[in-house]
Amino acid sequence: MAMTTSSFSLSLGSFSVTRRRRNVVAASATSLRSEENIVIVGAGVAGLATALALRRLGVGAAVLEQGPTLRAGGTSLTLFKNGWRVLDTIGVADELRANYLRIQGMRMRSPANGGQVLREFSFEEEAPGQEVRAVERRVLLETLASKLPPETISFSSKLKSIAEQGPDGTLLELEDGRQVLAKIVVGCDGVNSQIARWMGFSEPRYVGHMAFRGLAEYADGQPFEPKVNYIYGRGVRAGFVPVSPTKVYWFICFNRQSPGPKITDPAALKREALDLVGGWPSDLLAVMGSTPESAVVRTPLVDRWLWPGLAPRASRGGGVVLAGDAWHPMTPNLGQGACCALEDAVVLARRLAAAGNAGDAMQGYEAERWARVFPLTARAGLVGALVQWENAAVCAVRDGVVIPRLVRLGPFLEHTNFECDLLGASP
Ligand SMILES: Cc1cc2nc3c(=O)[nH]c(=O)nc-3n(C[C@H](O)[C@H](O)[C@H](O)COP(=O)(O)OP(=O)(O)OC[C@H]3O[C@@H](n4cnc5c(N)ncnc54)[C@H](O)[C@@H]3O)c2cc1C
Repeated sequence: MAMTTSSFSLSLGSFSVTRRRRNVVAASATSLRSEENIVIVGAGVAGLATALALRRLGVGAAVLEQGPTLRAGGTSLTLFKNGWRVLDTIGVADELRANYLRIQGMRMRSPANGGQVLREFSFEEEAPGQEVRAVERRVLLETLASKLPPETISFSSKLKSIAEQGPDGTLLELEDGRQVLAKIVVGCDGVNSQIARWMGFSEPRYVGHMAFRGLAEYADGQPFEPKVNYIYGRGVRAGFVPVSPTKVYWFICFNRQSPGPKITDPAALKREALDLVGGWPSDLLAVMGSTPESAVVRTPLVDRWLWPGLAPRASRGGGVVLAGDAWHPMTPNLGQGACCALEDAVVLARRLAAAGNAGDAMQGYEAERWARVFPLTARAGLVGALVQWENAAVCAVRDGVVIPRLVRLGPFLEHTNFECDLLGASP
């Protein structure tokens, strides 16, 4: 059934969220104070998808983003079928599909012998129905944002502090002195979430390896088959995947006791990446060579396991709730961080829209999502620990027995099954 803005309202105490902005209470040059029903902090994957999912239900939200624009950098995100189900549901999948290649399979290789293939999989044969595409992060964000009313996102709006104000809601103070009083705050402020810290979460844990990522550009067309290539060394692994007819994403994961100082010189960053894979297969090196220095990033990998009984609640006081990396940062070993942020968005929007009371909605969301994200975070961490092994004997068993004979793609990708039944229709 189509649901329109006028036929739907979410009861939040005495407020109706069909009217997004409650009002501007006081205006002066330095202390503009406004009131909103729903404020989403962070215009990343989780924040924009939540805003759009709510909008598809006729519910408005304001998004505060610290940056002056959407994040322009970043390389690409590999999205599996659970991510695509969400993007279908919120109405942006086909637009993205038109520009990004459907990946047909996966090659697992050794760095030796010119990149000897240890095993090759076809998604169609081993995991029918799987949909894998790598999407440029910038384009994903722009596409989500383009479906929101233009006034939805306030850029250069960095959250500075947060305080509960009893039944009035939660007061958000921004770096520039503005204040926003919100009935509901959705913390989508990413892996270093200030809101999560305020709710008692620990800092994410560095897992002992780091990742380089890059996006190669081929103005005249890239030459690769639409397959993911993984190359497993000792304590170092790399991979590349065609993204579009002209772009190829690559990554390198390497062990390192501590992240060390941040490198800001792009040329030095690219050199360090190339040094890690000196003598590795020429196709990988060619992809890296076709990458502008500005499109290479290095990130320490972190996660946070939401141990039952130990982790703080994902919501507080029926007024603040977390989604995406702010709640459950996970390592990228399963390619599920952004996929799960998208899942969070639709589940949270559905719960908020269906419940008469925001506190119940948040608790229902937390229970439903915890059961999904805690095992995935743990699994991603364990897979990372296994594939980053350095021990020569263990790596020989991996390359000689485990990869060629034991790995089964279908069962391995079972976590990408996700039913997504959010919405009626777009407004
Ligand atoms: C190396 C690597 C590879 C990855 N590969 C994949 C992959 O292939 N597939 C996949 O699904 N996932 C992948 N991920 C995970 C994915 O990047 C994250 O899970 C995803 O970006 C989380 O989205 P988010 O919206 O929660 O956070 P983010 O995308 O980080 O967005 C947070 C937003 O909040 C804003 N913000 C932060 N603080 C404030 C503040 N105080 N005030 C206002 N705004 C603020 C930020 O500017 C940002 O725009 C990868 C991660 C890494 C590190």
